[in-house]
Amino acid sequence: MLDLRLEAVMEGVLVTGTATAGLAGECVRCLDAVTDEVEARFQELYVYDDDGDSRQGDDQDDDVSRLERDLLDLEPVLRDAVVLALPFQPLCEEDCPGLCTECGARLADDPDHGHEDPVDPRWAGLAALRQDPGDAPA
Ligand SMILES: [Zn+2]
Ligand SMILES: [Zn+2]
Repeated sequence: MLDLRLEAVMEGVLVTGTATAGLAGECVRCLDAVTDEVEARFQELYVYDDDGDSRQGDDQDDDVSRLERDLLDLEPVLRDAVVLALPFQPLCEEDCPGLCTECGARLADDPDHGHEDPVDPRWAGLAALRQDPGDAPA
């Protein structure tokens, strides 16, 4: 979904917008599917592409978005805005307890989950590997 507002200003057109996009990913802790919605806000000034004979040299600033005739190229601006709005580490819920490091069970489904017997030492190495790197002590 895209919500745009265009304003004519001296130098060109100021575009202010909000884009909403669906997001599908995996919880970084328990690998559950995560669907979310991101909202990206952006503002960009599109200057008139002064293609007349008044061009002073060729030092056009490439960082500036330009109007191409009457067209606004929104795509790069939109893409940047949405990428910035994406969550760095999606979680299925704010305080997802993740997976049991010993057996891989999803702790959210089983809060009292525990192991009475220590894991067979032959498997302990694997259990450590399964630990979420995001939760590892610094
Ligand atoms: Zn989760
Ligand atoms: Zn377990």
